Amino acid sequence: MSDQPLSRRYFMQLGAAGAASAIASGAAAQDRRLDLPNRAIGRPAPQLGGPAELPDAEKVGIAVVGLGKLALGEVLPAFGQCRAAKLAAVVSGDPAKARRVAAQAGLPDDAIYSYESYDRMAQDRRIDVVYIILPNSLHADYTVRAFKAGKHVLCEKPMATTEADCRRMIAAAEAADRKLMIAYRCFFEPANLEAMRVMRSGTLGKIRSFSSDNGRPSSLSDPADQWRLDGPLSGGGALTDIGIYGINGARYLLGEEPVEVRAWAYTDKSDPRFAETEDAIHWQFRMASGVIVNGSTSFSYASTSRLQAVGEKGRLVMDPATNYRGIQLAVHEGGVERRPQTPAIDQFAREMDEMAMVVRRNRPIAATGEEGMQDVRLMLAILESVRQGGAAVRTDWGYKRAVDPVELADRKA
Ligand code: NAD
Repeated sequence: MSDQPLSRRYFMQLGAAGAASAIASGAAAQDRRLDLPNRAIGRPAPQLGGPAELPDAEKVGIAVVGLGKLALGEVLPAFGQCRAAKLAAVVSGDPAKARRVAAQAGLPDDAIYSYESYDRMAQDRRIDVVYIILPNSLHADYTVRAFKAGKHVLCEKPMATTEADCRRMIAAAEAADRKLMIAYRCFFEPANLEAMRVMRSGTLGKIRSFSSDNGRPSSLSDPADQWRLDGPLSGGGALTDIGIYGINGARYLLGEEPVEVRAWAYTDKSDPRFAETEDAIHWQFRMASGVIVNGSTSFSYASTSRLQAVGEKGRLVMDPATNYRGIQLAVHEGGVERRPQTPAIDQFAREMDEMAMVVRRNRPIAATGEEGMQDVRLMLAILESVRQGGAAVRTDWGYKRAVDPVELADRKA
């Protein structure tokens, strides 16, 4: 894993080097390379909305587990924008990297953990929440260990790679009486929330069609892609990495669940990247209302992050829909296009602040373990349909989300 120097100034500044870097980074979120020096340029944009500042003593301490691309490139810098959460510890298998990052973040040496000393976090009262940012198949074990240590858990998407692991994580949270939140940052992102409001308002008329495309080129020379192209570690290549945004997006925009899935894969097996995982997967969801969702994902097509809903009276397009910055929302109603303007926020800072409110103020969670498991089960159903050559796989197992993300966001406003 490549390491880049992190300055303390960088930690404090960062965040939304905002609009400028958003425009510069047209690529899909997951395609960004570590560009820390550039991101340190500029002053932080104010975080509009979100929780109020907590007094320092009340701030929720977060231990970041895994110092890879997302942790170094987005999450650690985001602490500079947090109002209710603070960095309390780092966990890494690379002691030199951990020491360097801790020093630059102002953490004492005793706030550095390895995967071996991980369970000793139980005795560390500075840590309230463990934020799991590891390869997908490792999420479950480290989540369960964190609960056993008495901590709350914020776990990156996808929640896990098997339904059994998801259930194990949910059961561990219950047994420990601690909170589990899946890191679905779009549940707090203003443009996605505005899109949910448009969808719920009915102004587009009855929705007749929904589509989503989410992918990017992958590279075997990038360590962060090596495990993503590994079957067991990723649980399914592009689908579990980036296709999940289209699955989750269809569900939160339409506000309903798929009852049936069909899927097909289109993989060039002579391409060494796809020895273990499928490349392009195209799927169809038949939603409970009858709307058909057409989705695609790929680790070989150009960076794409797009969601579209077409109703009898109008159309909504998000392109890019789920990037870290620069999300664009267009709403076409009655032949007129409008582009609602929403504040650019640091999504990781907001998400960690929201987790802090869950812990300190018992705020409800929209991205529950059950919500994460629903996407995992749907991805497994897609892969099952692929294996059966596009056969219909039933998914009407009765899942209903506990809280609508936009209802929760507007409730606290
Ligand atoms: P990465 O490969 O850059 O980082 C993973 C870290 O885990 C590395 O530091 C690596 O050394 C460590 N690791 C520990 N045990 C390992 C093992 N057995 N094999 C490989 N690595 C091991 O990956 P990343 O891009 O930071 O992604 C990490 C997680 O974050 C994934 O679950 C991914 O889906 C998620 N993610 C989420 C978003 C988002 O927008 N929410 C964006 C990117 C990544």
